[in-house]
Amino acid sequence: MGVQDLETVEKLSLSDLNLLDTTDNEEQLKYCRATLKKIVEEDGWYYLGCPICYKQMRKKPDSELLICQQHDMQHHKYTFRVTLLIEDETDQAHAVLMGKEAEEICGISCEDLIIKKNCKNQRIIPQEILQLEGQIKLLKLKPGTKRDFLIKGIYEDVHKFTPTQDIEPTTSTPNKKIFEKKRKELFKAKPSKNPKSDNFEPSDQSSANTSAQSDIEDLI
Ligand SMILES: [Zn+2]
Repeated sequence: MGVQDLETVEKLSLSDLNLLDTTDNEEQLKYCRATLKKIVEEDGWYYLGCPICYKQMRKKPDSELLICQQHDMQHHKYTFRVTLLIEDETDQAHAVLMGKEAEEICGISCEDLIIKKNCKNQRIIPQEILQLEGQIKLLKLKPGTKRDFLIKGIYEDVHKFTPTQDIEPTTSTPNKKIFEKKRKELFKAKPSKNPKSDNFEPSDQSSANTSAQSDIEDLI
């Protein structure tokens, strides 16, 4: 779906999505704009899936062996499954991010995260996933049970609507300017001095800072 289509597609609020009759809407995909508020850590972030059907592998009776009974499969595929608490101005819901949608948005495959980056603990959410928190996204959702959706698409919020609590630039700019002006005046008010002779003057904080800074710069 192109950027233009995403702009014009009908987006539902989360309160409307939560009220959908899921028996009628099971196969219908819905769009919404929501904040990815929080990763639900207790749900973990991956599981061992069957490479064919992606169902979770289960232990064979009386054995430690994990299998997919349906496909007689013994080797597993690491599969993303991240539960997100999503939020808009109307309500909250849980949305599950899986498979290639998760790979795309995290910029890494589940297997690479586990094997190459050594993120083996299912309950410790890697930074690649945690960075999603707070982002506003356009989501294509498949309604599941109540307050539970499967994410079928996750897109940049091209619209970037401005939150209402934003301070008007007309009030913030002059304040900043006044502050900067005052700061400059403070610096001006300092007597100009010869750095060599003033080096050991204890009250001269500004000169001490400057020399510490240049020491650091020398190290870099
Ligand atoms: Zn299977």
